[in-house]
Amino acid sequence: MRLDWQRRAVILFTASLLILSVVLVFFAVREAEREKLLKEREIEGARQRLVDTIDGRARSLVSETEKRVLEAVKKARAAAEPAQAAAVLKDPLGDMPLVSEVFFVDDEDQFVFLGAKPLFLLPGEKQRSREIARSLENDERWKRAEAAEFRLTDYSLAAALYQDLAAKTADPALDALLLDRLARCYAKSGQNEKALATYRQQLQIGLSDLASEGIPLEITALFQIGNVHLQKGQRAEAAGAFLELYQGLLDARWPLSRSQFESFRKLAEDRFRAAVGDLDASLRADWEGRLQDLKKIEGERLAKTGVLEKVRGRIIPRMRLEAREMDADSGKWLRIAEPTDSGLLLASFFPLDTNTMLGMLLDPQALASGLFPPDSGKPELEEGLSVAIVDESRKVVVGQGLVSPEASEKSGDPQLVFTGAFTDSFPPWAIDIYRSGVGAAERQFRLRKTIYVLSLAAVIAALFFGGFLAIRSTAKELRLAKLKSDFTATVSHEFRTPLTSIRYMAELLQRGRVVDESRKQQYYETITGESERLSRLVENLLDFSKIEAGMKEYRMEETDITALAADVAGRFRQQAAFKDFTLETEIADDLPLIRADKDALGRAVLNLLDNAVKYSGGNPRVTLRAWSGEDAVNFQVEDHGIGIGKPEQKKIFEKFYRSESALQSSVKGSGIGLPLVEHVVRAHGGKVFLESEPGKGTRVTIRLPVRPPELRKGDENG
Ligand code: ADP
Repeated sequence: MRLDWQRRAVILFTASLLILSVVLVFFAVREAEREKLLKEREIEGARQRLVDTIDGRARSLVSETEKRVLEAVKKARAAAEPAQAAAVLKDPLGDMPLVSEVFFVDDEDQFVFLGAKPLFLLPGEKQRSREIARSLENDERWKRAEAAEFRLTDYSLAAALYQDLAAKTADPALDALLLDRLARCYAKSGQNEKALATYRQQLQIGLSDLASEGIPLEITALFQIGNVHLQKGQRAEAAGAFLELYQGLLDARWPLSRSQFESFRKLAEDRFRAAVGDLDASLRADWEGRLQDLKKIEGERLAKTGVLEKVRGRIIPRMRLEAREMDADSGKWLRIAEPTDSGLLLASFFPLDTNTMLGMLLDPQALASGLFPPDSGKPELEEGLSVAIVDESRKVVVGQGLVSPEASEKSGDPQLVFTGAFTDSFPPWAIDIYRSGVGAAERQFRLRKTIYVLSLAAVIAALFFGGFLAIRSTAKELRLAKLKSDFTATVSHEFRTPLTSIRYMAELLQRGRVVDESRKQQYYETITGESERLSRLVENLLDFSKIEAGMKEYRMEETDITALAADVAGRFRQQAAFKDFTLETEIADDLPLIRADKDALGRAVLNLLDNAVKYSGGNPRVTLRAWSGEDAVNFQVEDHGIGIGKPEQKKIFEKFYRSESALQSSVKGSGIGLPLVEHVVRAHGGKVFLESEPGKGTRVTIRLPVRPPELRKGDENG
């Protein structure tokens, strides 16, 4: 009943603690989860800030460039026309890596490019060449000169007339035209040297926009110079002239349509090849090299022209649309991003005045690399994060060593955790933040959760263990309490039995009822034996209480073990003379002297003999052995009685413990004999061994070292 009550209390206590800790851990985990959310939000904020930083850098790079370009252009325009501004601007623009092109657009969409001009007129551009011959159409002298040249084929007359005309004009354009005609007449009349000189003279005038019948005069001049040289067999000079023509075409010296450009370019190359065809191999290779150099330049300029074509065809119309929405005088730059098949075009426009727009093209790659400048290092990032800037086709423009999105999808790692964009989609790229591994917030949360769950597990384990111990110790205590109360009853009984028989026999003797001498003797012996037994019982009790109080002391002295064993056997025979048993002794007579407490040791062996007789069942044959071996002396008491079951063999050395079979066989005992024996033996530095089998008998052996390691005060409890 009491045990149940205590057990229940322990279980209740444990359970309430358990519930409490589960609730605590639950709340702790919830709290950690909330913290994780907060932290995630914070991290999200940090990522947004990172995106904002990159965006801000892009904007400041672009607007800084715009500002500088505008300043430079304004300074240049104060002094010169747009066309001349080009030369003035060349230097300041040179050190702006972001700027790939600067141009002006007038309100009729006519362009002035400051950098490389397109190789030919872009669609929609006005033909800018001057058809010079028309201004002379009504001039009589001109008509006569033409008639002499074409109808009369009188070239010297024609030449004289052209010369006469040239002498009278002050207009360099007309002069150039007349020199062209004059040179032609010379050439036709075979005056090659004169023709060459005249063409050169015409080229020196340097008016590249002059044309006759759609063909720029300078092109005619260079072409003819080449031809004349070729006629004369001056191949190198001819090749030089044709290359000069090619070079002029690449420099966009003359305003040509695309088809004109292509046919003149082809003509120049064909004639050049005709010129160098018969040259020595080494010379030819040299000329061929020069041609190839020019071809390379042509490739680059064609690409550039392609870009400018797109600017005209796609960006300008968009710019017009958006500019209309914008206030013309707003003084703001208008930014336009246009993806094309040959790459992204980034353009920015500024209204210089009512009919001129300043435009520029930005180099996307330069802008991108400006976003992660190497000198300022990478942007501040959490551990495990990387940033990449990707274009619309998800191709990385610039980034920190990342990775195609497909790869990240496949392996699941790194993952895209945040994506942002640039203001007004200029440039139209995404800023992607990738994370490899678990994020900081998640990692912290997991760690905390693990700690909480582990502590919960530890608490549960501790509670179970504590509960188990508590229940066990109360059970043990209860058992001890019960044994104690049994102890009082049995001890009283043990006292009463010998006292009763002593009193009975003493009375008989006193009253003189026993006449038979041998009988008298037997009574005296019984009285002596019983009183010895009583005193041993008292000594046992005294010893036990001393041991319990920690005050038992042993008096060690040199002891003859053989004599001690023989003495114990003799005393036992005498004490138990009235009992029915046989005691056999096998005591070696050469046992060594050891230091021991004679009385205590003797009482211990007597206790063993007492037990052997008490628990002898129906077979009261007891053997006492004493022998020595390997630095030890052994006592052994053997019986053939009821024996002790395995599970009880350890317990019988606990105080008050009595085995089930002993209780059943109603043999009286106090349960303090064996604890005493063990205490004495330990005090001597020895050990007690028990061998027993229920129903067969018991053998208890005491082994004492000949030289005990240390003689101790016997202060331990049995
Ligand atoms: P007591 O004999 O007074 O009961 P002990 O401490 O001497 O107390 O012995 C404890 C218990 O050990 C005994 O009650 C008995 O059950 C068991 N026991 C001791 N010696 C023997 C033995 N020789 N044979 C069988 N049981 C024994």
